[in-house]
Amino acid sequence: MKILVGVKRVLDPYVRAYVKPDGSGVDLSNAKMSMNPFDEVAVEQAVRLKEAGAAEEIIAVSIGPAKSEETIRTALAMGADRGVLVEGERNLEPLAVAKILKQIVEEESAQLVLLGKQAIDDDCNQAGQSLAALLNWPQGTFASGVELEGETTKVVREIDGGLETVELDLPAIVSVDLRLNEPRHASLPNIMKAKKKPVEKKAAGDLGLDLEPRMKILNVSEPPPRAEGVRVGSVAELVEKLKNEAKVI
Ligand code: AMP
Repeated sequence: MKILVGVKRVLDPYVRAYVKPDGSGVDLSNAKMSMNPFDEVAVEQAVRLKEAGAAEEIIAVSIGPAKSEETIRTALAMGADRGVLVEGERNLEPLAVAKILKQIVEEESAQLVLLGKQAIDDDCNQAGQSLAALLNWPQGTFASGVELEGETTKVVREIDGGLETVELDLPAIVSVDLRLNEPRHASLPNIMKAKKKPVEKKAAGDLGLDLEPRMKILNVSEPPPRAEGVRVGSVAELVEKLKNEAKVI
């Protein structure tokens, strides 16, 4: 059983995002970049499944600029076996990502694809669903539990009314939520070992796929600054302000 994991290089979630003055996007020059946090959870789950003897090989795939190799190396240090880097400078839309992942899934004959439920830079939550549609495979989204049982996978999903447990025939796509597990920190020896693990490189433009965007970003802007808070002296004053200043009651 081979597990393929999608790992996207995104702006580190703990640094402030600055919008470019021309409103064309977030300024990533010199910004600290990291693995998409949901993808860390996906890698961790793949490694746990392998450690439990349910999988033999984990392949980490990243699509993006050459520096995405660092993201793959992080996955390798966490326990993935090898990587595939599909290089392309443009930030591809989830449908294009799904088309590329489909090609790799088919080349590798992967039985399980683990993705994050969303990339925190585009917040699209589409790549997993698009890939399931392109492959015509079953999908379990927003997983907070994943088990492999023979030819099937059991996925626990957090839904409004509680927890829904579904069973999917393999091969399948699972997109993971943060509550699934606590990703491990790679140890120094594993970081060193990861440097020697193989990473195959391909150019997105050579894959013979239509990767043209379907959407045009018109403008990206900063959220409006939050007004400063005020301290009130009493409940009566609070009620008076809510009524007459904020006009919410
Ligand atoms: P999205 O639909 O863009 O919110 O992404 C959902 C998930 O698809 C991410 O958490 C990743 O696991 C995977 N994914 C999206 N874009 C990429 C990419 N460029 N490289 C690798 N995996 C990706």
